[in-house]
Amino acid sequence: MNIHEYQAKQIFADYGLPIQNGIMIRKLEDARDAARKIGGDFWVIKAQIHAGGRGKGGGVKFAKTLDEVEKKVSEILGMNLVTHQTGPSGKLVKRVYVAGGVDIKKEYYLGMVLDRTSEMPVMMASTEGGMEIEKVASRTPEKIIKVEIDPLIGFQGFHARKLAFGMGLSKDQMRTFSKFASSLYRVYSDKDASLIEINPLVLTNNDEFIALDAKMNFDDNALFRHSDIQKMRDLDEEEPTEIEAKKYGLSYVKLDGNVGCMVNGAGLAMSTMDIIKHEGGDPANFLDVGGTASAETVAKGFEIILKDKNVKAIFVNIFGGIVRCDRIANGILEATKKIEVKIPLVVRLDGTNSKKAAKILQNAKTENIINADDLADGAKKVVSAATGVLK
Ligand code: ADP
Ligand code: MG
Repeated sequence: MNIHEYQAKQIFADYGLPIQNGIMIRKLEDARDAARKIGGDFWVIKAQIHAGGRGKGGGVKFAKTLDEVEKKVSEILGMNLVTHQTGPSGKLVKRVYVAGGVDIKKEYYLGMVLDRTSEMPVMMASTEGGMEIEKVASRTPEKIIKVEIDPLIGFQGFHARKLAFGMGLSKDQMRTFSKFASSLYRVYSDKDASLIEINPLVLTNNDEFIALDAKMNFDDNALFRHSDIQKMRDLDEEEPTEIEAKKYGLSYVKLDGNVGCMVNGAGLAMSTMDIIKHEGGDPANFLDVGGTASAETVAKGFEIILKDKNVKAIFVNIFGGIVRCDRIANGILEATKKIEVKIPLVVRLDGTNSKKAAKILQNAKTENIINADDLADGAKKVVSAATGVLK
């Protein structure tokens, strides 16, 4: 789960991590009041969406007077903000953060993430703050300093020193930074975060470190023990079909391609996406209908996949272990009676009662159902159907 910058900063503040003053507003008429309360010489108006790169897209603006604050808020609130992380369609800005301006001496990057290779949380720092860290990582990887933190020993002085040396900090700066980094580690582990990014972490003219930007992602499997974080969920920022799928126990993730996928089991769903790519196609989604797929879940699956207008063909790839393929075959027929599926449906049913299932589908003589012999055959057929190119 993701949260907004202003929410991440509330959590930071609880842990004593320095942030600039700020107030989130949803209405233009609250702009002046917010800026007045914050005070200071200048303000920064920031779009709150679950995507980075807002500055470049026009979602971060500076204001020197209250009139300017109002003007900049009016420009950002309600705008459709396109950044490299939103995709070309962009995101509607419904919340704006009015923050106090900070005089910046230097911008750094500081982040934490779970590193799956070392199986440990890793803290990363860089002098290349304010830039896209992915670009820094690919062009000048030596500029990113990393420390692995064994959760059993926690964050230690030597971790902080290694990062601080790499960042070229002075002795005094190092002291302030160590405190900051150690609190950051506490936030990360207490809140079961899967990622924290502070880009930029800034050094002010008074040699203080302030988190100027904040991004936090959380491990969904641990959310049950963080009701405070669950409350921060902003459904406006999530894909409506993903929310609906969750209600029915389906794991659905929308993607940009045109081949709809309906699969049982996350592993099979992943390999289905791989093989579609291998055949030159592009999956439109990840959809795991669950180990115990039924006619109902299949019907719901179709409904959800078909909400995506990019989908040109659907690959139903079900392995009958616990579920019986003949039931799924009947389920598909029932579902196609209920929901009009006008695009080609390539069906591969393997495992328990697969022969019975094949007969059911053949006898049904439904025009748009294409039977597949195996996984590779199904992938070929569905990619051909979606692209209109026969292989
Ligand atoms: P994004 O990463 O989405 O573009 P940031 O919060 O990182 O948004 O803001 C972009 C840039 O705007 C920062 O790198 C910083 O230079 C400047 N900036 C952001 N907030 C402030 C602030 N409170 N005071 C001064 N400059 C700021
Ligand atoms: Mg940033």
